This record gives sequence, structure tokens and C-alpha cells, in this order.
Amino acid sequence: MSQQTDPGRRVFTVRQHVVQFSGGIGSFAVAVRVARRYGTRSLTLLIADTGIEDDHLWRFADDTSRLLGVPLTKVADGRTPWEAFRDVRFLGNDRLAPCTRLLKQVPCRDWMEQHADPADTLVYVGIENTKRDRARIPAIARNWKPWVTRFPLCGKREHARTKEELLDEARALGIAPPRMYALGFAHNNCGGTCVRAGQRQWKHLLEILPERYAHAEGQEEELRDLLGDVSILRDRRGGSSRPLPLSVLRTR
Ligand code: SF4
Repeated sequence: MSQQTDPGRRVFTVRQHVVQFSGGIGSFAVAVRVARRYGTRSLTLLIADTGIEDDHLWRFADDTSRLLGVPLTKVADGRTPWEAFRDVRFLGNDRLAPCTRLLKQVPCRDWMEQHADPADTLVYVGIENTKRDRARIPAIARNWKPWVTRFPLCGKREHARTKEELLDEARALGIAPPRMYALGFAHNNCGGTCVRAGQRQWKHLLEILPERYAHAEGQEEELRDLLGDVSILRDRRGGSSRPLPLSVLRTR
């Protein structure tokens, strides 16, 4: 147990520490820091399964679980992002991605509501200490209310570590980082087919994992048959914005 202060300056006793464990290196580093500081008896590694994660994400998650001696608490909506897009009749894209809410936030919040009292629980998020990521903190903290959030990698006592330094931390603890980083992806999420990624990542996916690109392209085509001229990417050349289907990006 520890005493903490919430945003309203109220002092409360923490009995439960829940790490939003995404399988990314940031949340790994957070889990390790929370375990070192508070022990593991009241630590939860909460992870949402989107159904299209890279296999190595689960290997990395299992390795982390073994390292800390904390079982994974896995939640799942049961749909993949593609199935969710069909259900809500909207194709996620770099501006709006309902899959995050449906497949990650809702199942995690459902679990929290059943198992974690906001009065004595801290939620930890593995936001990395970059200007771009730090800008996301207020919105993430707002979304998690009434739970109080902490972002240990952005704390005052923590010097800003590069992703490579965080990957080295995992290696030093005997854990091989998820292969998506070594393959040149910035994030280890949804197997490199995150709809929020830009053209650069999709081109990289086509080059490195063409079969995965082909699957995403097929899913997008099915959604285009259902919804019309929609696409994950936009072509913004020449001052206008047009749909840029993955099939077109591939043939360019
Ligand atoms: S990682 Fe990307 S594709 Fe996967 S759920 Fe989140 S926003 Fe959707």
C-alpha cells in the first residue's frame, strides 16, 4: 500500500496497481518500474487482445509475465478491428479509429469496473517521453477517469529514454524485444496493420510483410464494397484530399 495524491489533491491509499500492458516496450518498462517500486502482490498486467496482434507480441507478453511473476489479465471484445469496422459501418483511419475504443478501451474499462475500485487503484500507461506522446497525456488521463492515471516514463524523476534504451532494458533483463521493432515498426500493435499509421508504415509493411499487407488490402476492399469509396489512407497531394486505397498505394 502507498499514499498517493489524485488530481484534486486528495490523498488516497493505493491498494491496486493496474498497468495497461499493450505488449509494447513502453508498457513493459512501466510494468518493470511499478513492480520494482511497489512489488507485484497488487500488480495487474491488463492487456486487450484485438485478434490481429503479431505472434511475438504474445511471446513478449508471456516472457514479461514470467519475469515479473504476474499472470496476464487478458480481455477481448472478440472481434478484430476489421469485424468491428463492418459492425459500425465505418472504416478506421488515421483521423478516427473506433477500434481503439471498441476493442481496447471498452473491454479494459469493463474489467476495471468489475475489479478495480477507483478509490484505491492507480492506472499506469506506457506513454514514452517524447513531445508528441506527452501531448496525449491529458486526453488519456481524461478518458480513464474516475481512475487516477500515472505515466511513469514521463515522470520528473525519469530522464527521457529513447526507444532503443527501453529495448536495451528488456534485453538486460533477459527478454528479447518484440520482433516488430527489429523489423522497423515504431509500435508493436495490431501486427503492423494499425489503421492510424501513415503511408510510410503501410509502404514498409508491404515491403517487409507483404502477406499481411495483402490481408489488410483484402479487408479494406471488402469494406469498400460495403461502404463505398472509403479508405484507411488519404492522398493529400496537390492540396486536395482523396481516398487512397491500399490497392492503389501498392501499385504506385
Ligand atoms: S492499434 Fe490501431 S488498428 Fe489496432 S485497435 Fe488500435 S487504432 Fe485500431
